[in-house]
Amino acid sequence: MTRLARRVAELPPSSTVAVGKAARALAASGVDVVDFGIGEPDFSTPEFVARAGVAAIEAGRTKYTDVAGEPRLRQAIAEKYRREYGAQYREGNVAVTAGAKQAVFNVCQALFQEGDEVAIFSPYWVSFPEIVRLSGAAPRILETRLADGWRPDAALLERQATTRTRGVILNSPNNPTGVAAAADEIERILEWCRRRDAVVIFDETYDRFLYDQRRHISAASFGSDSDRIVVTGAASKTYAMTGWRLGWAVGPNDLIAALTAYQSHSTSNASSISQAAVLEALQQLERTEASVSEMLAHYTRRREAMIGALARVSGVRCPAPEGAFYAFADVSGLFERKKLTGSGPFCRRLLEEAHVAAVPGDAFGDDGCVRFSFATPIERVEEGMRRFARWAEV
Ligand code: PMP
Repeated sequence: MTRLARRVAELPPSSTVAVGKAARALAASGVDVVDFGIGEPDFSTPEFVARAGVAAIEAGRTKYTDVAGEPRLRQAIAEKYRREYGAQYREGNVAVTAGAKQAVFNVCQALFQEGDEVAIFSPYWVSFPEIVRLSGAAPRILETRLADGWRPDAALLERQATTRTRGVILNSPNNPTGVAAAADEIERILEWCRRRDAVVIFDETYDRFLYDQRRHISAASFGSDSDRIVVTGAASKTYAMTGWRLGWAVGPNDLIAALTAYQSHSTSNASSISQAAVLEALQQLERTEASVSEMLAHYTRRREAMIGALARVSGVRCPAPEGAFYAFADVSGLFERKKLTGSGPFCRRLLEEAHVAAVPGDAFGDDGCVRFSFATPIERVEEGMRRFARWAEV
């Protein structure tokens, strides 16, 4: 047996990946599986964006770039934040990474160490606690409840943080709950951070997907606190580019410099080809807006179909998500009827008996819930929800 380092010996593999694997294995045996497990857009990358990647290859732009990304791309990302939020960011405030995941990872590596704690509101995106642990720090989970709308609450932070709490991770819109943080909620958390000299990592991977005319509130718009705010984002969901691996961290110059030094000894620059494609997306604003609006229109219809169907299943409670593309449903009211003990067995049986894949809520810190992704065509949403309802009622 290989003697593994402590850092990885107890590292659980991502449960979203595990669900995908089980669903694919069942599908490979010929079963028609409705997959609500996957957390990525089913759309193709907009063609003009993809073509910019092809053009970059043809023009031989296949070499190393600056570790923190091509200057023009870093400038375009800074410009996005100036335009959308009036933030005073420049090239030196931006590091381009291989997706938002690497952005959060590298930010945590640059900021935290043994003895530190980082506050994370639950339900949380599966990777946050592990990313914090991999930095040497300990996650401090702040449990929010469905009854309170799963809102990120500064009073919880005030009560449960300790003198070791050096940072807070906020994710808005949230994966899995879809909750979009309000300006006063962000302000109160920033106020706590000001008093305690802590940093906010604000993950806005789903910033363009909000419903019911809501507008995204970015931490980047709180300019007076810009020295304690790091925003992480990505092209992954917004432009349907998950496989291109391109994201960014935007924050104080000294942090971005440290993060770049770290990246220079680990992965170096994000793909030069992906950088060229995302630069095109950020420069061709009108075409990009048209593509994003079209995707949002699809998500909006699917969300209505899914939320409507879930509301009709007795024993299920699921508030409409304000953003992102997940329904996080409390299914604990079905446990007794189905003789189940938690979200893991629930999802296993749902897959085996109804051929519907969903992700157990325990991966997100809530074992009474299950996450259904509606990044899947509306016919499949309707079919999957029909199967779920039939399965749940017996
Ligand atoms: N943050 C959140 C909240 C996410 O849901 C995801 C993807 N599931 C990421 C970050 C990572 O995105 P990327 O593919 O850009 O690394």
